[in-house]
Amino acid sequence: GASNADLLKRRQAAVARGVASAAPVFADRAENAELWDVEGRRYIDFAGGIAVLNTGHRHPKVVAAAKAQEDRFTHTSFQVVPYESYVALSEKLNALAPGDFAKKTLLVTTGAEAVENAVKIARAATGRPGVIAFTAGYHGRTLLTLGLTGKVSPYKKDVGPFPADIFRVPFPSVREQITVEDSIRALEMLFKTDAQPDRVAAIILEPVLGEGGYHPVPAELWQALRAICDRHGILLISDEIQAGFGRTGTWFAVEHSGVAPDLMTVAKSLAGGYPLAGVVGRAEVMDALEPGGLGGTYGGNPVACAAALAAIEAIETEGLLARSTALGETLRARFADMGARVAPYRMWDIRGLGAMLAVEFVTDFESATPDAALTKAVVAGALERGLILLSCGMDGNAIRIMVPLTASDAIIDEGMAIFEAALAAAIA
Ligand code: PMP
Repeated sequence: GASNADLLKRRQAAVARGVASAAPVFADRAENAELWDVEGRRYIDFAGGIAVLNTGHRHPKVVAAAKAQEDRFTHTSFQVVPYESYVALSEKLNALAPGDFAKKTLLVTTGAEAVENAVKIARAATGRPGVIAFTAGYHGRTLLTLGLTGKVSPYKKDVGPFPADIFRVPFPSVREQITVEDSIRALEMLFKTDAQPDRVAAIILEPVLGEGGYHPVPAELWQALRAICDRHGILLISDEIQAGFGRTGTWFAVEHSGVAPDLMTVAKSLAGGYPLAGVVGRAEVMDALEPGGLGGTYGGNPVACAAALAAIEAIETEGLLARSTALGETLRARFADMGARVAPYRMWDIRGLGAMLAVEFVTDFESATPDAALTKAVVAGALERGLILLSCGMDGNAIRIMVPLTASDAIIDEGMAIFEAALAAAIA
């Protein structure tokens, strides 16, 4: 077979430069939390295909369900001839989503598409155009979702203008010294300066900033936003695309706050490795558009729906919510110990919710200057030693853990030992 170097050369010649890959190696096969490249090298996978694999690569139940569906039919388009799995998955998502009210679901294919549709639905339901998002938020790479995404480089660079009527509020940040009260005050100010509240359809935020660095939304902010939305008739949207399906120890991360959003966007670990996404929310809001106003040729693909039903069942029957909480505690303790021993004063923060955890690196404790170079060196050193890691954060100085919740303790230990070796080498 072709070597990694050969494939890299072909990739560089044939694939658009804007699509980046974190690893310079090519996948051959993968199983649960392990992956092998085309040269037969084994890696432990702490990236999980960007938080898609809470149930691991090729979970046996997910693969069996997808294969069984492939033997029946692979596509009809739900808009031409519907099928039961789309309905069953919608019922399941409606039941799992927080909030003591009737819910309905729309299935689409990608996370960005889910966010686009959540905004369309919110606009149609309220008859209002405005959308408020937060700094450092990530909601996708299509033009509307880029408008919502709160980071210029590399996402928004050179591709504007973005849709009108999108407003932004600062996300609480220890580093930027922005408190929850500051965020709320900025929102109230925004209502006075730019965004007439009764022309705002929705406020959208991630319950834990994903690409933005694994900063959880404080419960007080969720509660304040819920009250503000109720006061002004604004819909509250939790973008659960990266944080959902057990990553934080609950089905959806917003549940930690006790707040029920009006709409949620879901994708990634929803379907255990198949492209599937959705919008779940208040039935009367979800019903705002006319028949034909929502959808897409592939939305709710039957193979992906079968996989999703199996992935959700695996989360339930294998106790993966509790596993996520326990794993989060293990990882947190392990990082605290590692930081103190191997990288004193350089591991500035360990944060997250459940197993949605990141560590942040700085040049020194006093200035707390973000150290993207050290972070890069750890990621590269880990890959050389057989561990796939992904960074995150506005300053590129955090490493996030998205390991499958199905990974064994032995694999977690092995991965953390590699992390430590890579960190020690990068510091030296
Ligand atoms: N929202 C969040 C919170 C995400 O993490 C992502 C993907 N990283 C998206 C939206 C966009 O999803 P997709 O890449 O499937 O379009």
